[in-house]
Amino acid sequence: MSNSVLITGGSRGIGAAAARVFAREGWDVAVNYNASGEAARGLVRELTALGVRAVPIQADVSRSEEAEGLVREAEAALGPLDALVCSAGIALPQQLLTDTTDSQWRRLMGTDLDGVFYTVRAAVPGMVRRKRGAIVTVSSMWGVTGGSCEVPYSAAKAGVIGLTRALAKELGPSQIRVNCVAPGVIDTDMNRHLPPDILAQLGEEAPLCRVGQGPEVAEVIQFLASERASFLTGQVVCVDGGMVI
Ligand code: NAP
Repeated sequence: MSNSVLITGGSRGIGAAAARVFAREGWDVAVNYNASGEAARGLVRELTALGVRAVPIQADVSRSEEAEGLVREAEAALGPLDALVCSAGIALPQQLLTDTTDSQWRRLMGTDLDGVFYTVRAAVPGMVRRKRGAIVTVSSMWGVTGGSCEVPYSAAKAGVIGLTRALAKELGPSQIRVNCVAPGVIDTDMNRHLPPDILAQLGEEAPLCRVGQGPEVAEVIQFLASERASFLTGQVVCVDGGMVI
């Protein structure tokens, strides 16, 4: 029987790239989306053509009951989950902390931190019952170092790292591994608002002198979820061209 994975924020960017790598490795994939239904359905057609089972599931992970429903729907469609990838996320415009409104703060925290909590909480009982499973969260280099004019995002992503490490300790005895990737600057829609020369300049700050691509993060996510990483848990892997060393 094949393995199954639920990927939040699977409709675009890093999540969509991860979906392609899992399918290439023969995993069945539940592709969560919030607004991008067309993209999710197109991706699912692409994955199905590779010979795996794939389903699109709409849910706003910042809403507790929708995240719970997402996991139940994925389990109903694919059977017990072998892995969960939490890639859904948003960013705010770069701005000073003092210019950040309550609603911006709540929206960011709701998606980037609460969304991880709600989804993971819903998926864990099924994994614990089987004493089997892997969770991969998606933080950011700003969650490790903090970024100026990125305080809410840095705080949420640091929270994701704390959640990952603590949960790895909690779930280790159940043989469930919990790891995190912390991407640097990756060429996805999230950075599409930046003029190309600014994006290139950001990339040049990394020792590898360029921005990363979604598939480069996706490969690490799939590795962490797979049996190839069977003795790895509680780790934060920076996929950032060497930005954080
Ligand atoms: P992206 O291309 O903008 O894609 C974001 C994804 O998150 C989309 O699939 C979107 O789905 C989904 N999403 C947003 N809000 C959601 C919600 N409330 N419920 C469910 N899904 C939601 O961004 P990306 O670059 O792939 O980012 C993926 C993850 O990597 C994020 O957690 C981000 O913070 C992190 N990251 C990105 C970078 C970077 O430079 N790109 C760097 C470090 C970390 P819909 O379109 O269907 O709404």
